[in-house]
Amino acid sequence: MENCIFCKIANGEIPAATLYEDEDFRVILDLGPASKGHALILPKTHAANIYEMSDELAAKAMVLAKKMATVMTETLKCDGLNIVQNNGEPAGQTVFHFHMHLIPRYKNDGVGITWTPGKLTEEEKEEILAKVKA
Ligand code: 5GP
Ligand code: ZN
Repeated sequence: MENCIFCKIANGEIPAATLYEDEDFRVILDLGPASKGHALILPKTHAANIYEMSDELAAKAMVLAKKMATVMTETLKCDGLNIVQNNGEPAGQTVFHFHMHLIPRYKNDGVGITWTPGKLTEEEKEEILAKVKA
């Protein structure tokens, strides 16, 4: 995909600090890290978001996320790790090439991946179940 920065990075046309590479993915350090070691999993083929991903690539991405989370936790000695994946502008996506954030977490690091819990009402529960449940 022309003019997609993550296509160019994933395929090696623009250099990036690469932690891992295989035929399907490149894992790079985020230029604006939320914490020390914040990395991004980029597929080498373009999909704007999760909706456009093939099942096969989506499955491989999760397996790689597990592998990277394990290696990063061991080597960076972090105390936990968030996997974050944004789809669409309202969800916080700013680069429209699918990516997964791997965000190492350290005790009292102040990284704000949080929300204010609401309350699930009976009415809303029934509405959502009727709409979504397969
Ligand atoms: P999003 O908000 O779309 O989920 O995440 C985009 C992420 O890509 C941000 O965390 C941002 O710091 C990172 N980013 C944007 N442009 C570049 C770039 O050119 N190189 C690298 N390594 N990271 C980038
Ligand atoms: Zn792309």
